[in-house]
Amino acid sequence: MTAFRDAYGVTNPKDVQELERALVNRLIYSIGKDPVDTQPRDWFYALAHVVRDLLTVKWMESMRNYYLQDAKRVYYLSMEFLIGRTLDHALLNMGCYDEFKQALEDVGLRLEEIAEYEEEAALGNGGLGRLAACFLDSLATLRLPGFGYGIRYDYGMFSQSIQGGWQIEHPDNWLRYGNPWEFARPDVLYRVQFCGRVVERRDGDGRVRYDWVDTEDVMAMAYDIPIPGFGDGSVNNLRLWAAKASRDFDLRYFNEGNYIKAVEQKTQSENLSKVLYPDDTTQMGRELRLRQEYFFVRASLQDILYHFSADHEDFDALPEEVAIQLNDTHPCIAIPELLRILVDEHDLPWEKAFDLTVRTFAYTNHTLLPEALETWPVWLFERLLPRHLQIIYEINRRFLDDVARRLPGDPELIRRVSLIDEGDGKRVRMAHLAIVGSHKVNGVAKLHSELMKSTIFRDFARIFPDRFINITNGITPRRWLYQANRPLAALITEAIGPGWVADLERLSELAPLTEDGEFRRRFRAVKRANKERLANLLRARLNIDVDPDSLFDVQIKRIHEYKRQLLNILQVITRYNRLRDHPSAPCVPRTVILGGKAAPGYRMAKLIIKLINDVAAVVNGDPQLAGRLKVVFVPDYNVSRAMELIPAVELSEQISTAGTEASGTSNMKMTLNGALTIGTLDGANIEIREQVGEDNIFIFGLTADQLDDLRRRGYRPWDYYHGNTELKRALDMIASGYFSPDQPDRFKPLVDSLLAGGDRYAVLADYAAYVECQDAVDRLYGDPDAWTRKAILNVARAGRFSSDRSIREYAELVWNIGPRP
Ligand SMILES: *Cc1c(COP(=O)(O)O)cnc(C)c1O
Repeated sequence: MTAFRDAYGVTNPKDVQELERALVNRLIYSIGKDPVDTQPRDWFYALAHVVRDLLTVKWMESMRNYYLQDAKRVYYLSMEFLIGRTLDHALLNMGCYDEFKQALEDVGLRLEEIAEYEEEAALGNGGLGRLAACFLDSLATLRLPGFGYGIRYDYGMFSQSIQGGWQIEHPDNWLRYGNPWEFARPDVLYRVQFCGRVVERRDGDGRVRYDWVDTEDVMAMAYDIPIPGFGDGSVNNLRLWAAKASRDFDLRYFNEGNYIKAVEQKTQSENLSKVLYPDDTTQMGRELRLRQEYFFVRASLQDILYHFSADHEDFDALPEEVAIQLNDTHPCIAIPELLRILVDEHDLPWEKAFDLTVRTFAYTNHTLLPEALETWPVWLFERLLPRHLQIIYEINRRFLDDVARRLPGDPELIRRVSLIDEGDGKRVRMAHLAIVGSHKVNGVAKLHSELMKSTIFRDFARIFPDRFINITNGITPRRWLYQANRPLAALITEAIGPGWVADLERLSELAPLTEDGEFRRRFRAVKRANKERLANLLRARLNIDVDPDSLFDVQIKRIHEYKRQLLNILQVITRYNRLRDHPSAPCVPRTVILGGKAAPGYRMAKLIIKLINDVAAVVNGDPQLAGRLKVVFVPDYNVSRAMELIPAVELSEQISTAGTEASGTSNMKMTLNGALTIGTLDGANIEIREQVGEDNIFIFGLTADQLDDLRRRGYRPWDYYHGNTELKRALDMIASGYFSPDQPDRFKPLVDSLLAGGDRYAVLADYAAYVECQDAVDRLYGDPDAWTRKAILNVARAGRFSSDRSIREYAELVWNIGPRP
């Protein structure tokens, strides 16, 4: 062991001189650059290698510890991990940020500048992928043996530019210069089968066996990324799979003498992990997507069982040793896959295999929107995964028999809960498969979990009453406060000590400081400095001037009709009209910032982006409004952008239609950074209100129940249009081309969706309440001391929204694990 220890590059990360030596060492021997002739990017890669070395040492220690403890392992299967950059996060979590900063300064470099050369790991769309990344941080920080499994996409989430107000997508070639954090594992290689056919035969004992033969194979190769916990936490592992052509497969064509065909085939198989699907909350039923799902599930399960089988003769202990969490239905093909392995490959009786499977899996639901619920055509399954389709049919047959026995005489119920949708071309319902094959199903906020049981999964909640639970989402305070908002973190640590970073409930100790005038002044100074920093960034990048003394009002998230960026814009237009009508009336100057990507095929969302930019052009170009209202669309919203914006937010816009946003997590990030929320009673906003108190949040609009009633009675958007002159005026301006004189009917589809189209997300129904609530925001902002008290209380009461709390709940309620002594 001491021999290994001597092999370590850096023995003491607190020793600045040693760090300098290591940096130059890495620059020469890992990057292959002469220190007298280097680009800043070379220094970034040298630096990342030094940091990875340190992580690797801790990572091996963690893995050895888990092994010695013989701890139950949690595997988090997710199609998406929206990680962002790693450098600062790793340095801060390891507690050696200042030392590295110094080491760089000694060689004439600034850490902040070097860090800008890191590409984002944007292997996710939005909230769901970011949740997975926060959970990895918490698992490592809590020293739980939790391992992420996903796909190493060559191209992550597209980057967005704005040209003439429209979104333009650009490929995200994040691996162009290589990923310095990962270890390629060419030796960890698994075969993944597709297509082929199933052959039925009898074995020596006369039992029917199924062989899946003549398949087309792709190989999955592992890449490991170390995930550093905070402080003395573990360093855990995220294993991502990349597709490689299988050698067998090539050989077939080689033998035919068709060299080019073989190479073509190779490229085709490797396309499997080429690109992340950029659709958030809509399902695109594309064959490649189903292939991706099975690809990473099959590789992950082989890997999981390889580890398990190393010290187990049979599978009896599987649910005691292994918990597998399915992040949405995307990986739920794992359920029939495990059954296939146990029954076809290991000869277990169905009943036993099914019992082990159910006790191993748990499923997290992320949405109630019907267009997001995954279903796949039976014909596609039959072609791609013929054996899995048979197994799904068998699960379904037994499940429906059981339901018919327990709740007899209800054929409609059988039709509703079936894993197969028989109408409109047969389809496999993945959510039903996930529920039937898991021992726990959780929603991600209280309201969402309740609605899950009372709407989309009502029948299942009756059939499996103990299966459904809630675990409210959380965010990691390391990235979203400690790293993103260093000035506020320092102020908090000065006031209550450093314990809050790993124990966020400790923030409650800030509450009494609302009565401390000096603390309020410093808290306000921090926010003001963050706003100024953001203003400088906006000027440098977008050439826009914003006033750091204006109210920073921010809505950043994917662009979607249910999130109601349109409601925000209607309110902005109304504000514009009022300011023009009353040029000398006193007002609270505002900077309204929006940002977010639209799915490339989502026409309405892209039109909303164009509308925001067209409104911004008119508002910002009007000299009458100067100093009173600014509208900014921040392009290419991603994790790094979020970390720049959130510390400067004063008003957090969380205005989705009640009952549509499962949880939301940007609401939590902004609360934690001292913003006040203006929001509907939707998702986790409800729990934020519970925590911060109703005096410290701006709540407006219809509740989910009230909306339900309204729709039952017949919702008539035209009544709202005719009943409110300011609303009518704003809509008429959009419809008549006020903001698009070059193309007056540009926004007709948007206006039509609200009026003729029935306004599915009740924008008009909530408009008046929203505008009135915004007036209350202005009034409070006019009293800075009162505002600051509330802002401090928001921080002090945000402790519950740590992802550490979420992970502890999963550990206790779902996985049955704890750090073993
Ligand atoms: C937190 C986060 C999200 C989720 O935002 P919501 O407002 O909860 O939808 C999406 N994208 C990025 C980059 C994030 O950091």
